[in-house]
Amino acid sequence: MLQMTRRRAWKAIGIAGALTRLAAEPDRSQPVSAKHALDDLLAGNARFKAGQPLHPRRRPEDFRATAAAQFPQAVIITCSDSRVAPEVLFDVGVGDVFIIRIAGNIIAGAGVTIKGSIEYAVAELNVPLIMVLGHSNCGAVKSAVQHLNDNDALPGSINGLVNLVKPAVAASKNQPGDPLSNAIRQNVILGVNFLSDFGPIIAPKVKSGSVKIVGGVYDLQTGSVALV
Ligand SMILES: [Zn+2]
Repeated sequence: MLQMTRRRAWKAIGIAGALTRLAAEPDRSQPVSAKHALDDLLAGNARFKAGQPLHPRRRPEDFRATAAAQFPQAVIITCSDSRVAPEVLFDVGVGDVFIIRIAGNIIAGAGVTIKGSIEYAVAELNVPLIMVLGHSNCGAVKSAVQHLNDNDALPGSINGLVNLVKPAVAASKNQPGDPLSNAIRQNVILGVNFLSDFGPIIAPKVKSGSVKIVGGVYDLQTGSVALV
């Protein structure tokens, strides 16, 4: 009986060990599908949420291995908010994700710096997955909700930035439920929709199925990313 229990225990450790190695040492030079990339991110988020991160690919040999070339499996466009760190909340490491951060994860109204960065990842790095990631309690979206009908300008360049989030607030105005949560979700949807039809690089790849675009909202309270 004891023998059986031990054998089972070793078997369990063996499987867990194999899974750990799989997550820790993938061959990044091999192209992966968008589904594979998304599954990988969501599995990492589940580990993070459960308080069981593996912290993969953060050792000196890991960053040395990617010094000559990068093979990220996803582009993530997310907010600059200090609580929304993609490598942490998806439990990935160096070389895994190509990240663009801008307050309010603005895409449609953003300029060439943001749009060109996304296109670069798709055209040059062959990234199969694009994720637009908003988050709960987003300050940029909150400002847009509060100032939607106000004529008072916010100081400096903040006013122009918040104006770029207002279309999402306007589009979600009549939805039932919490206005801020609705606007955050809508802002992600507008970003996904914009990119799906965007330009000569991304739109054809979305149409052919070689690139997939998904939206998600990260919940600051639970640590969970929910796809929208
Ligand atoms: Zn934010």
